[in-house]
Amino acid sequence: MSGPARATAHASSRAAVLDVIRAAGTISRVGLINATGFTGATISTVVRRLIDDGLVVETGRAESTGGKRRVLLQLNQSSRYAVGVHLDHAGITYVLTNLGGSVVARMSRAGAGAEDPPAVVERMAGEVGALVEGVGVGRERVLGLGLVSPGPLTPTSGMRLTPPLMRHWEDFPLDRALQEATGLPVVSDNDATAAALGEHWSGGVGASATFAALYMGTGIGAGLLVDGMAYRGASGNAGEIGHSCLAVDGPRCWCGARGCVEALAGPSAVVAAARADRALARAAGLDGGSGRRRSSVTADFAAVTRAARRGEPGARALLERSARYLAVAARTLANIMDLELLVLTGPSLAIAGSVYLPVVREELDRAFFSRAAHPVAVRLSRSAATAPAIGAAALVLQSELVPLRQGLRLPENLADSEPAPVERSSA
Ligand SMILES: [Zn+2]
Repeated sequence: MSGPARATAHASSRAAVLDVIRAAGTISRVGLINATGFTGATISTVVRRLIDDGLVVETGRAESTGGKRRVLLQLNQSSRYAVGVHLDHAGITYVLTNLGGSVVARMSRAGAGAEDPPAVVERMAGEVGALVEGVGVGRERVLGLGLVSPGPLTPTSGMRLTPPLMRHWEDFPLDRALQEATGLPVVSDNDATAAALGEHWSGGVGASATFAALYMGTGIGAGLLVDGMAYRGASGNAGEIGHSCLAVDGPRCWCGARGCVEALAGPSAVVAAARADRALARAAGLDGGSGRRRSSVTADFAAVTRAARRGEPGARALLERSARYLAVAARTLANIMDLELLVLTGPSLAIAGSVYLPVVREELDRAFFSRAAHPVAVRLSRSAATAPAIGAAALVLQSELVPLRQGLRLPENLADSEPAPVERSSA
């Protein structure tokens, strides 16, 4: 999607300029020279091409500070779009964002459930079409489709070591199938990393923040951003805090280990404990007969949360116990990364975040190792349910704006990340 390899040097100076404009909102050409380290001639050429391509527009002039008033540039937000898809067992969330990452359309549909993968992909292609056509955006203006799903990623299939409920997706070439069905280029990532990117792109997280998104959907994970860039590890599977161990002889986890945070405290564990308590199961509406349609973990977790809100003490106790485990996981993450900011996000925290937030905050205030140096701000995502889908769209935008993954924000790193020499104004 970032163009042929021979154009990389050019594409990346263009990408660097586009990304600086996106982050700044509005900026003059002189501001771009200062921010990127490129020469005036390079900025002039790149900006002219961006304007010709319709990606950037001139918008008024900056207040004069004595000299000539400077023309301001900004992204042409409605020139390009990206589709973000969050596929999960319980639901599929779709968003369409503009070039700036703002959501212009969203919809939720039934999850993958027990359906065959090819049937789900066919349905998804139809739903993507409806999303894009629904707002009257031409296909040619959609850059691509970002896809996020649970489970460790592999380069070939996207999902290999799949969580139990999606085991039938093992070995299914999801990326390729979706690309063929929609005709859009597909980029994929795991749900927690995408949720972190979504938080970053939808605002509220500074570009320089050392920041993590603690994600709870069906499982528990974390997305990590260092200096505004996602940290992915060797295979795109960094941040699996849900599979850190809190009890060496604890319950067996689906990942093969024992005592994982997810096995002790994830939504499935909460729901299982609620079902095991007959009175609580009845109070929460989880005791349906055998004729009852098997519901999703997310729906059952929501039922336990509603029972807690109604003042059901057993339900409240289960959620608070889960929150204490999650808080210890959050502290581990904060200690390892020396975090400044932790955002709680994901569909399950969209439902029960108000229970988890104070417990995580209290744990970090009390026990974060470097608390004498600085606090860790903890907040609940403003878009906890849709953050992964927004992040999926951001993956597409980022691959257009920042085709090289490292260093583009930092002028001093440009020489290292460029395969070919780039014109520089100084240094
Ligand atoms: Zn595990």
